[in-house]
Amino acid sequence: MNKNSSDVMALAPNTPNKRETVCIFGTGDFGRALGHKLIQSGYPVVYGSRSTQISNLIPKDAEVLGHAEAAQKAAIIIIAIQRQHYNFLTPLAEVLRGKVLVDISNNLKLNQYPESNAEYLAQLLPGSKVVKSFNTVSAWALQSGTLDASRQVFVCGDDVEAKQMVMNIVRALGLTPLDKGSLLAAQEIENYPLQLFPMWKFPIFLSLGLAAFFFLYCVVLDIVYTYIYENNNFSFFIAITIPNRVCPVVALILLALVYLPGIFAAIIQLYRGTKYRRFPDWLDKWMLCRKQLGLIALAFASLHVVFTLVTPLRAFASWRTSKRIVSQALNNKTEPLDHTNAWLSDSYLALGILGYFLFVLLGITSLPSVSNNVNWREFRFVQSKLGYLALIFCTAHTLVYGGKWFLSPSAYKWYLPNIYILSLIVPCAVLVVKFVLVFPCVDKPLTRIRQGWERNPKYSK
Ligand code: NAP
Repeated sequence: MNKNSSDVMALAPNTPNKRETVCIFGTGDFGRALGHKLIQSGYPVVYGSRSTQISNLIPKDAEVLGHAEAAQKAAIIIIAIQRQHYNFLTPLAEVLRGKVLVDISNNLKLNQYPESNAEYLAQLLPGSKVVKSFNTVSAWALQSGTLDASRQVFVCGDDVEAKQMVMNIVRALGLTPLDKGSLLAAQEIENYPLQLFPMWKFPIFLSLGLAAFFFLYCVVLDIVYTYIYENNNFSFFIAITIPNRVCPVVALILLALVYLPGIFAAIIQLYRGTKYRRFPDWLDKWMLCRKQLGLIALAFASLHVVFTLVTPLRAFASWRTSKRIVSQALNNKTEPLDHTNAWLSDSYLALGILGYFLFVLLGITSLPSVSNNVNWREFRFVQSKLGYLALIFCTAHTLVYGGKWFLSPSAYKWYLPNIYILSLIVPCAVLVVKFVLVFPCVDKPLTRIRQGWERNPKYSK
């Protein structure tokens, strides 16, 4: 008996000291990796294979037998075989009757078959108890030892006892089982490893689209225009100056877009006078990806911080400073301190620091490990109240920094507004409408609607 199980014995005297044998059908990559991990955790492992010859890839201490013989040795059989070969199991139906069959298979495409692989297995072998599990864990992760208890393993099945037996194995491997319910959930679990950042697609495309648009906008106004009309070559702006303009603009717009769907939802609920009618699909989808939008906004804001910190190191910045000093020396005149400018620059820096601090706080509280430890009210306080405060600080930061250009005609090169003016449209709209929504005459009916009151119940269906 290994050391682990003796430790468990000392703590829980009723725990049997010998783990039950687990059978694995298939000696492929996954079967071998899982077998190795099971043996490490104290389970005797027997493989059911088409070839009973022991290769040195098979974990030491494991037995390799024919399928029927191996199945007889265990109550649980893990089917580490691709779905298309499942029909070889039909002749084994009698041997497998009453046994727990663990389906770990994945497909190559989303919804590849009309029914899930686990349901298909249950149809082939109605006398067995099928449980779906382990498909979201890779053979590589099992072998490399990178998994720990933070890794959730989905489990679903119609037989509660069978599911419990599989969950015990998951726990014994040092992982965390997550009961997803009946075998109907298998399709969703099988689709899970095939999805590629499903909630991130829209936020990523949107942020890249915005970044590309504002980048080109700045190239046209800051490089092309200056070259044509002032004969200055500022092409090096592409490296730091322009990214440092684009990043805060995209961050601010994305942060405002996190709060905009909530504003639309409030207006729709007020208009309909009920919360019991579904929002349009586009709004539902938008609401579901707010966390991702916020995290991407935080990434852009962080880039802006880094770009700003390196600004004094740039040759252009030191050239500009020395040019000003030399010009003062040549004119034998020291420029007096411009107090308005000093106030503006300190204020915009302070607003930026506060806004970024709250931004980071929002990002941290959206991490599952943190959000799981705060209650719903605390979470809402941070995400909604402090989130709006972050939006106010960041909008004010941009307003104080860019405000000086709004009224200056030179800011409208080719009649186009400055990038900072554009960046303020969505955040200001969100803040103005939010300001209206918090008025008691609007907030009270909205709160009542959200508590279940209906202005006109016949429209609720
Ligand atoms: P694999 O390396 O191709 O191994 C599959 C095994 O199935 C073979 O080694 C073979 O074992 C057996 N087999 C092949 N053809 C057969 C047939 N006609 N009749 C009966 N048995 C046959 O595949 P794998 O990567 O281990 O994956 C196995 C299952 O685990 C798949 O359903 C896969 O979707 C799932 N999965 C894999 C991973 C992963 O990281 N690899 C992760 C999650 C889930 P014998 O030669 O011993 O008979």
